[in-house]
This record gives sequence, structure tokens and C-alpha cells, in this order.
Amino acid sequence: MKVLVPVKRVIDYNVKVRVKADNTGVDLANVKMSMNPFDEIAVEEAIRLKEAGTATEIVAVSIGVKDATKVLHTALAMGADRAILVEATDDQENDIEPLAVAKILAKVVEEEQPGLVLLGKQAIDNDCNATGQMLAAVLGWAQATFASNVEITPEGATVIREVDGGLQTIKIKTPAIVTVDLRLNEPRYASLPNIMKAKKKPFETKTPSDYGVDVAPRLEVVKVVEPSSRQAGVKVGSVAELVEKLKNEAGVI
Ligand code: AMP
Repeated sequence: MKVLVPVKRVIDYNVKVRVKADNTGVDLANVKMSMNPFDEIAVEEAIRLKEAGTATEIVAVSIGVKDATKVLHTALAMGADRAILVEATDDQENDIEPLAVAKILAKVVEEEQPGLVLLGKQAIDNDCNATGQMLAAVLGWAQATFASNVEITPEGATVIREVDGGLQTIKIKTPAIVTVDLRLNEPRYASLPNIMKAKKKPFETKTPSDYGVDVAPRLEVVKVVEPSSRQAGVKVGSVAELVEKLKNEAGVI
């Protein structure tokens, strides 16, 4: 079974994000960019499926600017076999929306015929949590989101999902879309020899027009603002005073 893993280039999770002074977006100038952390988990899961003899080939795909090549090289260095870059923009501030990404991925799926598409549950830059679900809808495939365990069975897959207040186990038929959650696995680091070898692995570059997809934005960002800063706390002298404040000032009891 072939596994397709879409990986997104996002602002590194260690970077302190700064909103631009004109409130049009986040400052990306000279900021470290990396693979979306949930996508590293998806790549790791695909590699584990290959190591277990379940997956035969892992294809990583990224849609965005040319520099997304680096996250594809990371996926190849971790253990993916091939990579496809869909160069959809030359402006890194132009975040390709989930619907356009899903439409391109659907075309890649048509060409590649994977048995499983493993995506991150969400991209940490836009927090959309939509691409996997949209891809399942476009393809008419089964989907299992927020996976914390994936077991491939002769009929399809059994997936444990992280839901509010617990875990849900579902069975799905393959081919299917699975979006992965934080506790699925701990991704490996790429070793230096594998980083060197990655550069020699097959790498294709495409454009959205190769797939007949229009990536023009459908959404308009009105404003981006910093979250409001936390107000200073107060020290209370007694439990009675605390209860009084919770009741009359905070209104929470
Ligand atoms: P989102 O719906 O934007 O929160 O993204 C969910 C997942 O979809 C990500 O974790 C990736 O696996 C995939 N994805 C989203 N955007 C892209 C992109 N531009 N290129 C490749 N994969 C993407």
C-alpha cells in the first residue's frame, strides 16, 4: 500500500510569533520555517507502517513556495521515498487555503493511487483543521480525524480518535484519509547520512495548473491582532476574600 503524506512549511513552533504593525498578518521576514509538527508525526507513522511491511512506498507532497523544498527534504531524510513540490506561489505570505490544497491533493491522489493519506490534524500557522476533511469530501473517501493510534487491517483500518473527554475507536475502509494527533507517536530525527541521501531521492516539481486547480484566495483576512495580554493578579488575604471576589468580581461562582 502506498502512503501519501502532505507536509506543510510553517513558522517554526519555537518562534515567538509577531503580528505586523499594520495588522495585516504575521511577520515572516527572517523567521525560521519548519515542517508542521503534526506532519512530522504523519511522516513518522508512514515510516513505521513501511517498517512493519504494511506500506510499500511513502510519497511526501507540499504545496506552497519553492522553499517548501526544505520540508520535503526533511521528510525524505526521515524516510519518505519520493517527494512532490507543487509550487503554488512565490509569496510566502500567500497561504494557500485548505480547499485549494485539498483539490490539488485530490489530483495527486488520482495520479498516485495511495491506499492511505496521512495528514496532520491541523497546520499550526492557520489552525484551520480543515484540509483532511475537505480532501475526504472531494474524494468521497472515508476519514478518521485526530488519530492517536492507527492499525491497518485486512478490511481497512482501525483508528483510535482523540475526542472531547476520551477516546473513540472506529473502523474505516481503505483507501482513506487519516489526520494525526499529537499522541500518535514521537517523530524520529533525521540522521546526517540520511540528510545527505535525501538529496538524491526522486523529487518532482509541479504547479497548480498542472492539476487544473485555481489557488486564488476565497477568504479575505480582515485583521490580525495579538491575543490580549494577561492582566496582573492580586493577592488575597483569606479564603473568605477569595470566595467573595470569585462571586462578586469574577462572577464565576
Ligand atoms: P489545515 O487544514 O490547514 O489545518 O492543515 C491540516 C493538514 O493538511 C496539515 O497538517 C498538512 O498535513 C495538510 N496541509 C495543509 N496545507 C498544506 C500545504 N500547503 N501543503 C501540504 N500539506 C498541507
